[in-house]
Amino acid sequence: MTDLLKQARHYTPGGVHSPVRACQQMELDPLFFTHGQGPYVFDHEGHRYIDYVCGFGPVILGHAHPALSKVLSAQAQRGLVYGGCDANAPILSKMLCDALPGMDQIRLMNSGTEACMTAVRLARAATGRSKVIKFEGAYHGHYDAFLVAAGSGALNTVATSGVTPGAVQDTLLLPFNDVEAVRKTLEQHAGTVAAIILEPIAGNMGMILPMRDYLSTLRHLCDAHGVVLIFDEVMTGFRVAYGGAGVHYGVIPDLTVLGKVIGGGLPIGAVAGSRDLMELLAPSGAVYQAGTFSANPMSLCAGIETLKHLSDTKAYQHLSEHSHALSEGLVLSAAQQGIDLQGVSLGGMLGVFFSSTPVQDLTAAQQTDPLAFKWFYQGMRQAGIVWPPSPYEAFFIGTQHDEDTLKFTLAAADQVFQSCAQQREAQ
Ligand SMILES: *Cc1c(COP(=O)(O)O)cnc(C)c1O
Repeated sequence: MTDLLKQARHYTPGGVHSPVRACQQMELDPLFFTHGQGPYVFDHEGHRYIDYVCGFGPVILGHAHPALSKVLSAQAQRGLVYGGCDANAPILSKMLCDALPGMDQIRLMNSGTEACMTAVRLARAATGRSKVIKFEGAYHGHYDAFLVAAGSGALNTVATSGVTPGAVQDTLLLPFNDVEAVRKTLEQHAGTVAAIILEPIAGNMGMILPMRDYLSTLRHLCDAHGVVLIFDEVMTGFRVAYGGAGVHYGVIPDLTVLGKVIGGGLPIGAVAGSRDLMELLAPSGAVYQAGTFSANPMSLCAGIETLKHLSDTKAYQHLSEHSHALSEGLVLSAAQQGIDLQGVSLGGMLGVFFSSTPVQDLTAAQQTDPLAFKWFYQGMRQAGIVWPPSPYEAFFIGTQHDEDTLKFTLAAADQVFQSCAQQREAQ
């Protein structure tokens, strides 16, 4: 164990400040990074890795993008936080609302967790109801009511430890991609459901696309029952398309929650919605929400610069082609060794499941082969490639991943799948 790791474990639970970073399920030590450059990250022992974690989503222009570094250095010399409004706040707000049909207003804050929590509070205030429908394996941050069967790192723990029975009772839990379950629940609990919150493309139980007409059916059901439809696009927003999954599928929710990419690598979260709903927020309305670092100058200028690059170029076409080539390449490479792998991709996001059939929900995700994923992760990391260290996370790419990183990755995958197949035989 390195001294740094020893020190980390001495001073911090598990040695990490967010659980998935621990790499516990992969039976490896966490990595400590010193810097990133384009599609690469470098650990404190000097190893270079092709990076498919991308900060778990925020990094989309590659690490240390020159234009981004430039605006951030300039801002750092002008001040970091004022306690008044930064002049860039209305600019980023307009860029985001313009990209999202039906979203008239937006409130910026500091994390996706905070934004999801605010969206639900708004929905409860607007409807006067308390129950919220969420889906198994979805992750909406670590707010109490969302930890019931939550995805991401929460899948590995009894995630509702420390959460009150009241918060658990207010959360109605349903399988993803099953409209009948939603229909029945809304009838059973008529008049008590404030909101349905979902990741329109699930990304915290691995990556799972919505089935055909799933999102538009949820839209109709919400309209029929007076329920607020919340798309949690913290991960998918400006990652799968300019705007996000709602724009890609042509379905408009009542509230959109954003984070990750829109801060260009700095902390951010946001709730957007119709004027009617948003005007319920203080100081216009009675729903309280506030933050010392909300819409801070650094997050704003990083967000603006990032969105400029994403709108000006053929960024999403490049991202989609590249993520598709990567996921297809991995599936093919696995198949050559007799390993069943499912791959999906959209924009700068992709996912694989070690499974012989496509995965549509958490139950199916949990039936995939955890040992194969662990071997795959371990082998690839040894070869200088990092993915999220869990079968329940999506993989990410940025605009600086190119032919070279693709070729290197797929050549390494050939070797790693071969040794996975050998290990499987030896068992
Ligand atoms: C990351 C994520 C969150 C939480 O965002 P934080 O900024 O980590 O608090 C919420 N929802 C989804 C879909 C996410 O991927």
